[in-house]
Amino acid sequence: NLTQRMSRVVKTLRGEARLTESNTQDMLREVRLALLEADVALPVVREFVARIKEKALGHEVADSLNPGQALVGIVHSELTALMGGDLGEGASELSLATQPPAIILMAGLQGAGKTTTTGKLAKWLTEGGHVQQGRKSGKKKVLVVSADVYRPAAIDQLKTVAEQAKVDFLPSDPSQKPEAIATGAVEHAKRHHYDILIVDTAGRLGVDEAMMREIRSLHDLLNPIETLFVVDAMQGQDAVNTAKAFGDALPLTGVVLTKLDGDARGGAALSVRHVTGKPLKFVGVSEKLDGLEPFHPERMAQRVLGMGDIVSLVEQAQKNIDIAEAQKMAAKLKSSSRFDLNDFRDQLQQVKKMGDMGSLLEKLPAQFSQAASQLQGGQAEKQLRRTEGILNAMTPQERAKPELLKASRKRRIAAGSGVPVQEVNRLLAQFEQMQGMMKQMKKGGMAKMMRAMGG
Ligand code: GDP
Ligand code: MG
Repeated sequence: NLTQRMSRVVKTLRGEARLTESNTQDMLREVRLALLEADVALPVVREFVARIKEKALGHEVADSLNPGQALVGIVHSELTALMGGDLGEGASELSLATQPPAIILMAGLQGAGKTTTTGKLAKWLTEGGHVQQGRKSGKKKVLVVSADVYRPAAIDQLKTVAEQAKVDFLPSDPSQKPEAIATGAVEHAKRHHYDILIVDTAGRLGVDEAMMREIRSLHDLLNPIETLFVVDAMQGQDAVNTAKAFGDALPLTGVVLTKLDGDARGGAALSVRHVTGKPLKFVGVSEKLDGLEPFHPERMAQRVLGMGDIVSLVEQAQKNIDIAEAQKMAAKLKSSSRFDLNDFRDQLQQVKKMGDMGSLLEKLPAQFSQAASQLQGGQAEKQLRRTEGILNAMTPQERAKPELLKASRKRRIAAGSGVPVQEVNRLLAQFEQMQGMMKQMKKGGMAKMMRAMGG
């Protein structure tokens, strides 16, 4: 994966302050190979790498990073941007604001996952999973119908799926034309006050004219508020051609990428996004009907690059840590013979600046995830606040000379910060351990520690 590929090159690049034509050449080649390995289509890879190169040249490398990390950071943020940027908390995945019924038309090849996704979406909307303008939009009354008259089993399949999803299914007569079924379904939905009508359609094994004509005429007739292109992530390179054909034939409003639970590397996400220019709205992550998730560009970027969340950790650190402050601290550690509780408190403040501890810990690579999981649910942050409270309850002299802290002072500090005395003791013990670590770190200083954190 890219992290491994990059780290090979990165070793030769330490200490360079700027990304240049020559120091990025090898890395860009690795980026290109990593993307191809992830099944991103070749023309998309070419364009993307050219864009990265343009962004990278002349880019200054922050003190806390090496050029390799800086480039990985650029690759990651460009990749995220290309995939649509994060919708952000509470953004709406679907637009449903219209005179009901809001119609959702499903398009895609046979086997892409249209029928399954119809059931998943119906369930999700029925259960009130949809978020509109930052608010849960509430439970919806949803009707599903199949306009797939070519395979007798297709209508039954949707019926079964609808039963499992506990949503209403409108039986359709396979001797009718798809257009007639669609018209009937809209009338039925209006008459029975459905909020949403999802129309499942037929797909062929390959793109063909007859299918495109049919889905286009269904589209014209239904005038859906959402036209979702459903595509199998395992399609890899082929996804580009399919996406292009559907994108040309229909005014798509979004894409659903299915079967991401398999070993698809997610490159199709990038290709499809690039070719259609339409947002990826959902991913399918299981055959089961709860296996639908809103699309997260950032997670997908990581999947494509295969690098855990480490890049955003680097970025976050780069953004928020006051580099000058870190250097001052490093200098201080070098010159002073000791690291006291005042320094410790300063450090805690730095850690706080790096952002929400919980999410920071989640971003660490797998080997730390166990430790991180013990600290989830705001535990880490709570602990941080308590520790800070204890430190604040000390006088500056006490922080400078922890050996002053005898029993009576500890009791005062505990009372002042609202914790039991044992907690003050625990903090002092931790601090002593840390002092030991600091002695070792003095050799390399803060910058080295930051680099170590960056992988
Ligand atoms: P359609 O022909 O486009 O309607 O595709 P179907 O909905 O019938 O799906 C084809 C096959 O893919 C079925 O066996 C589904 O169970 C399976 N499938 C659909 N979506 C997913 C998914 O997200 N993950 C997995 N593992 N299988 C899926
Ligand atoms: Mg189907």
